[in-house]
Amino acid sequence: MNKQKRIAILTRLRDNNPTPTTELTFNSPFELLISVLLSAQATDISVNKATAKLYPVANTAEKMLELGLDEIKRYIKTIGLFNTKAKNIIKTCQILIDKYNGEVPENREALESLPGVGRKTANVVLNTAFGWPTIAVDTHIFRVCNRTNFAPGKNVIEVEQKLLTVVPTEFKVDCHHWFILHGRYTCIARKPRCGACIIEDLCEFNDKQHPTT
Ligand code: SF4
Repeated sequence: MNKQKRIAILTRLRDNNPTPTTELTFNSPFELLISVLLSAQATDISVNKATAKLYPVANTAEKMLELGLDEIKRYIKTIGLFNTKAKNIIKTCQILIDKYNGEVPENREALESLPGVGRKTANVVLNTAFGWPTIAVDTHIFRVCNRTNFAPGKNVIEVEQKLLTVVPTEFKVDCHHWFILHGRYTCIARKPRCGACIIEDLCEFNDKQHPTT
């Protein structure tokens, strides 16, 4: 895909949604970190439901440790992999207190060293809590970037590197959210809604889907 087309796509996504953000509910970097950690293989809706009850009780590392493993499990038991996630929350909170004064570090290496926090989670936290121009590539972004030919790659790292190279600076901070939302609601996995897609004329996918009636 050429540069002009990429800029046209980004401009259209921006015009359609000038201030995009995550669909996870959060009020602090700590809440965002825990919500992203909980969202692995789970929907944002299910995470928001659980954290709406959890955060009023525990919205800091200290309070989370006070709450303890069993109680945390009780709050998040509707979310997939909750046992492992609860253990990771406890370990992460302990490290935040021991090494970072109870704060979420604004540092990729430090974030990626936390239990249950990988490159994608670190990218989301750096981008959404701290405004860094990082681009976290999840399954939705991977699919959209390959289908459209915007930033094709064999794996998420390749797509991330390509995006960081081809997305102009002015679009970098919000690019992650535009592509996620586009993949979640329009360019969906099983049957993309090409007829309702605002970038259809720019997309280079060879197998666009339109309703037959
Ligand atoms: S035209 Fe279809 S395949 Fe291309 S981005 Fe839109 S929904 Fe996805």
